[in-house]
Amino acid sequence: MPIATSPKLKVAIVGAGPGGLATTIQFRRLDNVEVQVFDQARELREVGAGISINDNTWRLLQDLEAADALEQFTSRSEKGVVDSQHRNGRTGELLAESVHTGHTDKPPRSRIERYKLQNALLSRLPKGLIQLSKKLASIAETDKGVFLTFTDSITAGPFDLVVGADGIRSAVRQHIFPDHHLSYTGKVAYRVLIPQEKVAHIPDVPKASVFWHTPTTHVYTCPLDNGLFEIATRAIEDEEYGSKVSWGRTVTKDRVVPHYEGYCDTIRAVIDAPDEWLEFAIFGGPRLLGSVTSNGRIVLIGDAAHPLSGAFGSGAAFAFEDAYILKHALEYAQEKGKSTTYALDLFDSIRSPRYEGLYEVLDRGLDNVKDVKSQTLPPDEHVSEVIKRNWKGGEEGGWIYGYNIKDVWAERKAVEDAKLAKVPLPTVSHAEQVATVTVSA
Ligand SMILES: Cc1cc2nc3c(=O)[nH]c(=O)nc-3n(C[C@H](O)[C@H](O)[C@H](O)COP(=O)(O)OP(=O)(O)OC[C@H]3O[C@@H](n4cnc5c(N)ncnc54)[C@H](O)[C@@H]3O)c2cc1C
Repeated sequence: MPIATSPKLKVAIVGAGPGGLATTIQFRRLDNVEVQVFDQARELREVGAGISINDNTWRLLQDLEAADALEQFTSRSEKGVVDSQHRNGRTGELLAESVHTGHTDKPPRSRIERYKLQNALLSRLPKGLIQLSKKLASIAETDKGVFLTFTDSITAGPFDLVVGADGIRSAVRQHIFPDHHLSYTGKVAYRVLIPQEKVAHIPDVPKASVFWHTPTTHVYTCPLDNGLFEIATRAIEDEEYGSKVSWGRTVTKDRVVPHYEGYCDTIRAVIDAPDEWLEFAIFGGPRLLGSVTSNGRIVLIGDAAHPLSGAFGSGAAFAFEDAYILKHALEYAQEKGKSTTYALDLFDSIRSPRYEGLYEVLDRGLDNVKDVKSQTLPPDEHVSEVIKRNWKGGEEGGWIYGYNIKDVWAERKAVEDAKLAKVPLPTVSHAEQVATVTVSA
């Protein structure tokens, strides 16, 4: 049914993480859309961790009118100040670094506490809009629309469109892709934020964001905006242990310290500083390529569609991009009297190539790691070789962080306009430059 003839498109957004909140902000800008938002949480609070705000994230936050609330936590460093480094975790040797460009017209790159990002988005929404303690249990698709039933046995609906923004363990994804299953990757992340005084006594802790690598694990360290210091690590834990870890549970230091005994003095001292850590098992599953929509009335966004487990440090930005395109595709469909199916196909056709490009970068990086591993080099040479191949300098990944969703949409809209008007198509010009892998924190 064309959207224009329907009084209001009834939309359910399942999940109020960064992706769900951004979609809610975007959809509330559409006159012909009525939104309900559900989240399983009893209260919306982010786990204690840092999050990178890169150029792409910043531009999207500006569009969401949430950037001003965050500006105070960012810093525009002077040209030449070291921004990020890669070091050998065992020896501390510096392997690569990037410095701030000092461009005043560029948005500040920062690492802030995640809850600040969440609060900035929430500040754009009316209080009470998000229905909490609503854990989605099942979905029923009927002639009248889509019905959602929650674990409290209450059913909501019918909805014309359901947006699955319910993260990596998405119940919406399970409904539309019942054969898709996640499994434990063999790695756990240990993360913590502590006051900077707790590491002030340790010599040689750089004031930049630093990845300290060994052939199998890494430690990430970074001073945050407000006197806090972030440590985020990866550790190998066996299947029996990892598959039972609940997301973000607290563990004592005895669990963490032994993993990093082979690291240099600086990192051993850093790892010894916190008394408690948060533990996250990393799960992954088959990639959803081509389409993340179903029957013209269900769509997945953010980690529900493409969990990148922190790779590129931009998961929130990718979810914001999804939200931006979904809103514009729906709006365009409304204007042209087209169906929701048309809007979702448009969404798939813009977002799918983007994610495929990101997966290619990940695969290239993983192939490099496999290739270096096959050479059975001594550990320090192994680490140097991986960084040499996968790190191409501070401005690398231009098409990842420089991706301007507004330009992408404008170009695509011109193509659609031409198609609908049946005139020759303009050439799509946004070039995808070669990028490289950024290791996740
Ligand atoms: C180790 C690690 C490090 C990362 N570091 C970064 C970083 O530095 N920068 C960055 O941008 N990104 C980072 N990310 C990625 C980032 O966390 C995600 O990409 C981002 O949060 C995606 O948001 P989302 O809204 O799609 O999902 P989520 O943030 O997972 O939100 C999902 C929401 O859905 C709700 N929900 C789940 N199931 C249900 C259900 N059945 N019913 C109702 N509600 C439900 C949850 O309560 C939650 O509120 C990292 C990820 C990992 C794993």
